[in-house]
Amino acid sequence: MLNIVLFGPPGAGKGTQSENIIEKYQLVHISTGDLFRKHLGEGTELGKLAQGFMDQGKLVPDEVVIGMVEDKIQENLDVPGFIFDGFPRTVNQADALDKMLAKHDLSISGMVALEVPEDELRARIKERAKTSGRVDDQDDDKITTRIKVYQDETAPVAGYYKAQSKFNSINGVGSISEIFDQIAGVVDVLPV
Ligand code: ADP
Repeated sequence: MLNIVLFGPPGAGKGTQSENIIEKYQLVHISTGDLFRKHLGEGTELGKLAQGFMDQGKLVPDEVVIGMVEDKIQENLDVPGFIFDGFPRTVNQADALDKMLAKHDLSISGMVALEVPEDELRARIKERAKTSGRVDDQDDDKITTRIKVYQDETAPVAGYYKAQSKFNSINGVGSISEIFDQIAGVVDVLPV
């Protein structure tokens, strides 16, 4: 299986590039943000629990996220691979992901990290706010919280994959197709 962690700060373009990656490599998309928004839309207990954290730009507690991802993996064991988008967002989640994959004799093939400067992230999120309908895209304070949470809790996840020699950095500024070409250059040589 080809299992990719697509990594980067809020607004880095993970959702956009995921679509291209899924199409080219036939992977199953596990976006924890999308899964939470689906629960929210359907008014499930999980959605209600997640909403307060999401609206403030804070992380949903690890055990909630990890359980949701584990369910998704269990449901899709006969696929060519997974792309994890917005997960893992803490070192604890990264460790849990390795353990749940190992139960099925699977592992992460590599991390692809999109690097985008903070002023560009803010500009992209503000642009997206016009159409996304996302509460957490709407004001500067929430965007600031999300970027700070990323720096404090999520950025260390890169070190976790560097220690396993699975970290690959991509310049996330440029046209969608230029960035995708760079991603494909990395993914094409990952060990399956
Ligand atoms: P973005 O990358 O633009 O911040 P996401 O759609 O990935 O957006 O996530 C939106 C929100 O969902 C996060 O701010 C957080 O509240 C929650 N969330 C998503 N993934 C996780 C995760 N792995 N751990 C904890 N919370 C998460």
